[in-house]
Amino acid sequence: MDKYPIGVFASIGAGLGVRLEVVEELGIHSVQLCCPHKEDRTEENAREFIQKLEKIGVKISVVFCDFKGESYATIQKTKETIGLVPPTLRNERKQEIREIADFAKVLGCDRIGIHIGFIPHETDSDDYRDLVASLQELADYLKAQGQAFHLETGQEKADGLLQFLTDVGRDNVFINFDPANMILYGSGEPIPALKKLGKYVRSCHCKDAKWSDQPGETWGAEVPFGTGDVNAKLFLETLKEIGYEGPLTIEREIPAEPERQKAEISQAMELIESLKKEIWG
Ligand code: MG
Repeated sequence: MDKYPIGVFASIGAGLGVRLEVVEELGIHSVQLCCPHKEDRTEENAREFIQKLEKIGVKISVVFCDFKGESYATIQKTKETIGLVPPTLRNERKQEIREIADFAKVLGCDRIGIHIGFIPHETDSDDYRDLVASLQELADYLKAQGQAFHLETGQEKADGLLQFLTDVGRDNVFINFDPANMILYGSGEPIPALKKLGKYVRSCHCKDAKWSDQPGETWGAEVPFGTGDVNAKLFLETLKEIGYEGPLTIEREIPAEPERQKAEISQAMELIESLKKEIWG
């Protein structure tokens, strides 16, 4: 794959991300795929989907986990429902991640992305230790089938995430860096965080946001890439600085407004193309 292809967050059928028809219309050739739920994760669906992708020349860079019952309605709801952190859901979601990894394998994708949720800060607690052990177990499962785990940024400050990655200690656990999430969750300035986490960053989201007036308490606002507090140019320059060469995957989560979503992704593509020329020549 060429360096820095423009990508987009997409889904099969319903779910976060744009539909494949939109990917085709926009002329994008790289997607991160929001994984369908259990009933649609059949081998037959996977094969059909691969055919569609081949026809329009699209490659999947990352398959993202998406669990039933997750809610991003408020920061508090996110704490309660997202990823592997809710203890009562941990075991069933671990099993589901193995199934998603198997589905991704059929799709020919060796990277699984996930929001694991708000990692407990008490690193000497049983809950933290169990979460570390869960990640180790899953990383080993993925490793056995030649896959890596990409943890999405947002819920943690860079230092907390670094500590967690060190404690997990597996060489196939990396980061999907989303600069807007750092702002939306109030987890710190994205550019210094990107520099700090640099060696782990293997995929990213080109997404933008404006800070909340109560960071960490209420959501910031997601806005089109290049119009928020991320500083799109500095973000791409910093990706270059850390030696990143993967896809630049645009994420714009306004599924209720598909026309506006498509238009804003198209504008983001233009912006990224011009910044790429400026930065990489
Ligand atoms: Mg994201």
